[in-house]
Amino acid sequence: MRTDVVVIGGGIIGASSALQLARGGAQVTLIDQDIPGHGCSYGNAGWMTPCFAMPLPMPGMLIKSMGWLLNPESPLYIKPSLSPDLLSWLTRFLFSMNEKKAKSSIELLIALSQESLRLYEELSHTQADLMKFEKKGLLMISQTASGRQAAIEELKWGEPFGVIGEILSGERAQELEPSLKKNLGGVYFQNEAHAEPLGTVQALLKEGLKLGVKVVPHCQFQGLGHRVQIGESQSLKSIKTSLGEMFADQFVFAMGSWSKAFGQELGLNIPILGGKGYSIILPKLQRQPKIPIMLIEKKVAITPRENSLRVAGTLELVDQDFSITQRRMDAVVKGARQILEIPEKPQYLESWRGLRPCTPDGLPLLGRSPAIPNMVLACGHQMLGLQTGLGSGQFVAEVVLQNRSQDPRLDPTRFT
Ligand SMILES: Cc1cc2nc3c(=O)[nH]c(=O)nc-3n(C[C@H](O)[C@H](O)[C@H](O)COP(=O)(O)OP(=O)(O)OC[C@H]3O[C@@H](n4cnc5c(N)ncnc54)[C@H](O)[C@@H]3O)c2cc1C
Repeated sequence: MRTDVVVIGGGIIGASSALQLARGGAQVTLIDQDIPGHGCSYGNAGWMTPCFAMPLPMPGMLIKSMGWLLNPESPLYIKPSLSPDLLSWLTRFLFSMNEKKAKSSIELLIALSQESLRLYEELSHTQADLMKFEKKGLLMISQTASGRQAAIEELKWGEPFGVIGEILSGERAQELEPSLKKNLGGVYFQNEAHAEPLGTVQALLKEGLKLGVKVVPHCQFQGLGHRVQIGESQSLKSIKTSLGEMFADQFVFAMGSWSKAFGQELGLNIPILGGKGYSIILPKLQRQPKIPIMLIEKKVAITPRENSLRVAGTLELVDQDFSITQRRMDAVVKGARQILEIPEKPQYLESWRGLRPCTPDGLPLLGRSPAIPNMVLACGHQMLGLQTGLGSGQFVAEVVLQNRSQDPRLDPTRFT
């Protein structure tokens, strides 16, 4: 008998879950309050880079971030506030900053990223036009000796789990990427890839459509519907939406940074705050890079596109605040100008902001809710939702269709 599944949220996580569920034989309906792919998955840097699979709370981060917090153009910003949600998030965040936790999280995130990369590469064979998938590696570039050391540290964290990198002198960096300014060393990670973020969501949905996935845009989840008590737990029969009640056997909740607001309704504590970041599309440079570049000191991500350049960065911790701070957006471009020849006042072909769904321990909530076992959570993918997307979708499909056991590190009830 086919399982009916409703997936709520059509970002990279919902779209990946829908496709992998359909591949596993489920009858899937995906709903989104907007057009699928127009949340945080719309304009991210497009990186699929297992080398860069660090959780947000990393050891040593505290001292570094104290300096950043005072600078309005810094890569990380937290507006001082006494909001109980923010204070409780920060407390949990601080307790997660230890070596043992970081190692275990990195192992898990790299494994999810590697599995996703393999699946994306496979998908790109049939969806090349939409995805524009390229495997050119990633240059982690620094302007200072301490930045270079940070890039090498990143390599060291990843090496035990299969990440490969070449430590670069300034000359070697320029040889690999002639568009770089002089004297910039770092590390080159050879096995990494990039793709168009929105195109990748569209590719997943197009592939899903072939397997019968029904996509319903402008359909907002508004609450749980009919429930039946079975022993200690409940079985969810339907959800309430702006287009009426929807029935299914299983439900997957993938609402990104919007998830926190539904915690009470779902009977869970979902401490997800938004990590606001900006991405700007610039006209193609005269000296256009061919390889994606991360500038370590500024945490700026540069991604070459066919006829333009994407520059992305900053993380400002907010609660569903979508406003744009022009100064922080301009600081991203200013950062990129330090290593590439970008005009003083470039034209912004497109400017965008998105809220990364950030949990305080830097890991997603992925798995069943014990109180309502046919309700599966798939949210909180912080800065890595694209690169861990299809692997997360596979995880969801195995939970729903094969009753895969939970990973305690991803347990959706761990904050409840
Ligand atoms: C500047 C920037 C750069 C980034 N670069 C990268 C990168 O290079 N690589 C990487 O892996 N990640 C990157 N990220 C992070 C990545 O974009 C996110 O982790 C990812 O998009 C999260 O996907 P999601 O599906 O969980 O959320 P979203 O894409 O936000 O999707 C959630 C969906 O749920 C829908 N929804 C919400 N509420 C409801 C409701 N009530 N009913 C129905 N639908 C609802 C929304 O409309 C939305 O479409 C970046 C993020 C930013 C901001």
